[in-house]
Amino acid sequence: MRDAFGSSVIAGAMLLAAVSFAGAAAAEPRVRHAAPSPKPPCEELLRRLPNVTRKLCEGAGLADTGARSVKGEPLYRVDVPFDKAKLRVLVIGAIHGDELSSASVAMHWLQLARDEPVAQPVHWRFVPLLNPDGVLANPPRRTNANGVDLNRNFPTPNWERDAATYWEKRTRKDPRRWPGPKPLSEPESRFLHDQMLGFKPHLIVAVHAPYGVLDFDGPTVPPSKLGRLYLDQVGIFPGSLGNYGGVHKGIPVVTVELPNALRTPLDAEMRQMWLDLLRWMSEKGAGLGDPNGR
Ligand SMILES: [Zn+2]
Repeated sequence: MRDAFGSSVIAGAMLLAAVSFAGAAAAEPRVRHAAPSPKPPCEELLRRLPNVTRKLCEGAGLADTGARSVKGEPLYRVDVPFDKAKLRVLVIGAIHGDELSSASVAMHWLQLARDEPVAQPVHWRFVPLLNPDGVLANPPRRTNANGVDLNRNFPTPNWERDAATYWEKRTRKDPRRWPGPKPLSEPESRFLHDQMLGFKPHLIVAVHAPYGVLDFDGPTVPPSKLGRLYLDQVGIFPGSLGNYGGVHKGIPVVTVELPNALRTPLDAEMRQMWLDLLRWMSEKGAGLGDPNGR
């Protein structure tokens, strides 16, 4: 299907195809021509997300990819490209729907990426709200509408054995941490997987809450801190994005655990985290964008 999307199909047909294959794959090369969102997303998001103004939300340019959540909500992404960018960075918020601040921080960083171009050209892709069904649930919930913890649904080796065992033995079948019936069983995790395949990021930054630390998986030297968050590698989980992307695909994954799921850090602190991320990315030691590393 990816090949069909990428080749000679006319844009209109592609949009129809994208809608009819909702949830299976994004119309990867054609986001700029995607149909407008079926409804303005900001009304709902403003009610739900902390520290997100109408200006920030409407200025974000949330682009409908054609992909849908279990309940049919659009899965948005925003590209902030830069001429001749050699580095591609994918930033993800709200993999867990009850970590509302994570979507807000992704939106603030999106604005910073637009407004404060840096010396090192970067092509950013933001997926600020991977789990809209969880975010919009009342009350918000960690899992998607099928009750799956999306951050346990990625195809790490031996997933069938390890994810189930971990869930049963280590979490005692915690319903908030169910890895799902099989890897990539969910439209939201498949959407993110498609972004990884199509966009080929050199770095993934996944924003979570509320543990107040920085975690890292991958082959390079991790950042020691982002703002007030310090590196504390907490462990490896079967099916997690960090495990899949960082350990098995060799794509560095920075996992930001904000200190509070319902409140963002102050704007100045979010900016400092952003600047620390940029500084780390530009350091040679980080080894990002090294063709040998891919
Ligand atoms: Zn989380």
